[in-house]
Amino acid sequence: MPDTTEMEKPSPEVMLTYYRRLYPFKSIFNWLNHEHSPSRLFTQREFAFTLAGDVYLRYNSFTTADELKKQVCQLNPTRFEIGPVYSARPRDRKTVRPAMFNPILRELVFDIDMTDYDPVRTCCSNADICKKCWGFIAVAVRVLDQSLREDFGYEKLLWVYSGRRGIHLWISDHDALALTDQQRKALVGYLTVLQGGKESSRKLNIRIGGKLPPSLQNSLEYLKKVFGGLILDNQNCFKSEDGYEELLKNIQDSSIASSLRKKWESNPTRSSQDKWNDLLKIVHKQQHPPMWIAEDIILNYTYPRLDAEVSKHRNHLLKAPFCIHPSTGRVCVPLTVDMIENFDPVSVPTVHQLLKELDETGDAENQGKEIHSDWEKTSLKPYIDILDRHAALLMSETRREKLKTGSYLSSALLLTALISNSQPDISW
Ligand SMILES: [Zn+2]
Repeated sequence: MPDTTEMEKPSPEVMLTYYRRLYPFKSIFNWLNHEHSPSRLFTQREFAFTLAGDVYLRYNSFTTADELKKQVCQLNPTRFEIGPVYSARPRDRKTVRPAMFNPILRELVFDIDMTDYDPVRTCCSNADICKKCWGFIAVAVRVLDQSLREDFGYEKLLWVYSGRRGIHLWISDHDALALTDQQRKALVGYLTVLQGGKESSRKLNIRIGGKLPPSLQNSLEYLKKVFGGLILDNQNCFKSEDGYEELLKNIQDSSIASSLRKKWESNPTRSSQDKWNDLLKIVHKQQHPPMWIAEDIILNYTYPRLDAEVSKHRNHLLKAPFCIHPSTGRVCVPLTVDMIENFDPVSVPTVHQLLKELDETGDAENQGKEIHSDWEKTSLKPYIDILDRHAALLMSETRREKLKTGSYLSSALLLTALISNSQPDISW
């Protein structure tokens, strides 16, 4: 069933309780900062707040997780976004020369939105989403995750459900943080087969001398396997007249298209699978490599549709994980790739549900107090655990690098110092 119910919009009181008792500020800090003591990755990081009445406050920055929490509780925003690390603290930007205030580091981010799949999904439209059409997102996640790991060598990928109908990806590898806008643009260009967003187009223009680039060839092998289940069975994309007309738009040879149309008009009960078989049969008779048409259609229907603009610029802001989607009340929760196929957006806890769970713990005397581990008693816990495990990886890498570069005391020196019970003679 599509999730069509508009939830009760979270009231300011509900949001404030969520921020005070449940929002994982410490985990967010660790994830952004890569170590326990505040570094410029956090202190020079932009936060932007959206307040009721569409008031938008940019260029906030903080020294610690507690400072961020204090400000969030004071402003009680409907949501907040995370931007880049600048060359100076964003809150001090008016005191530095404009030329000295630039974004210097930023996670590489991606946004996949279900609306870009509207021309090919049949179960829902617009803002709705269900477990069935989530299948498009699941396929996109698999393809992107693999391509970014194998083609670019990135390892620190965090996927976050957007709270409604899409998913975000944050990549925190050092190489990714340091990418220039030009490099981001090139990378997104490499990953863009179909244009998402406003310039949505069904044109595939990816074959060079007829061949697909090697990375796409890899993705295609996977997409061929999921095409039948997702497009022919689950979505039954070619059943209706609108559906098969959409398919025929992919066939540039008008004689093939019109002969298929004729066949399907006179047999309206033919299933998507039947129609796909009809198409395969007819393209096999063509003189040019016949499977190109079928392969291009498979890519067109299943390859990730990216909102490229989000990824191209370091200073693009993206909603922070664990914010509440204002219309669904659902939390933007991190997901692991292993969870992706079985994930049901409707199963994500809403802010109302979480506060109810808190009440049911019967911890009446703690109500109103700020207990940092309150989330442990709620269904938010497994999602915060995902972020914490991810942040722990980033932090252990930072520790390793600091050891390598000598910023930390080497363990041998530390042991010597401990044995002699004296202050180690080394500057930190
Ligand atoms: Zn759906």
